[in-house]
Amino acid sequence: LVRLRERLAKSNNALGKGLLALLSRDTIDEDVWEEVEETLLLADIGTDSTMELVDTLRERVKVLGVRSPEHVQAMLREELIKLIDPAMDRTLNITRHDDRPAVLMVVGVNGVGKTTTVGKLARVLVAEDKDVLLGAADTFRAAAAEQLATWGARVGVPTVKSDVDGADPASVAFEAVKAGIDAEVDVVMIDTAGRLQNKVGLMDELGKVKRVIEKQATVDEVLLVLDATTGQNGLTQAKVFSEVVNITGIVLTKLDGTAKGGIVVAIQKTLGVPVKLVGLGEGPDDLAPFDAESFVDALLA
Ligand code: GDP
Repeated sequence: LVRLRERLAKSNNALGKGLLALLSRDTIDEDVWEEVEETLLLADIGTDSTMELVDTLRERVKVLGVRSPEHVQAMLREELIKLIDPAMDRTLNITRHDDRPAVLMVVGVNGVGKTTTVGKLARVLVAEDKDVLLGAADTFRAAAAEQLATWGARVGVPTVKSDVDGADPASVAFEAVKAGIDAEVDVVMIDTAGRLQNKVGLMDELGKVKRVIEKQATVDEVLLVLDATTGQNGLTQAKVFSEVVNITGIVLTKLDGTAKGGIVVAIQKTLGVPVKLVGLGEGPDDLAPFDAESFVDALLA
């Protein structure tokens, strides 16, 4: 968690300096509040939450007669943490059942970082002494299955994939879960395809993948992967996917390359689903559990 704070602070996430400068002006008047509002909107906190935050702060500053910028910033920190809801349960449900592995599905549009996230997460689990198996149900792009298998080899876990281009994703998922049951692994992770251009096709495909898995096991965790750099666009994707499958957690990737980390607030508020993991780079160690306090500290650093 310390790492999350350090890593994010090093990225260009910092909202804090701008805000502190704003709040350091001689008088905190309406112009200042407007600029604070703008800064929060630019960080993708979302319109409703921004308005709510600024109203609360403005009122508290007035009532308490607060003058010091550090004090206002501390109040902002407190309010942001509240918005992100530190009480949300962010644990991954991937504990093996008595007679079968836990199954995790990763969904999201192409290019957001699904395959990379599966690879990084596999590495974390292997380090925890868990037996992991990967299933390449993104059969649309042949390269996707290869990429997953490369990650598998890199972290030392087997990958079930089809050698046929355009194979049925549900049957690959079925085979992967079956192999996971036979090998008595702890966790099976299924990578899927996400072609948002064809919403009906996507619904059918993901729904079918899930149903087919459920013939042998339960799907314990469905992680929706969103690219933080796409900002509000991620929200639209989130809505579409949550109509198709029951999302149990969000992975927010590419936080290393954006000042728009505030999207966390908007996503959780809109979906009511916790951000569980964040991606901080392309390397195998660049995945961290999400934590509201560290995150806000990095945002304000
Ligand atoms: P998929 O199509 O959703 O499976 O996406 P990929 O896993 O293939 O990732 C797409 C690109 O994003 C690749 O070049 C990854 O290396 C890169 N990527 C994934 N996660 C992160 C991250 O957290 N930070 C950065 N900077 N790049 C990432």
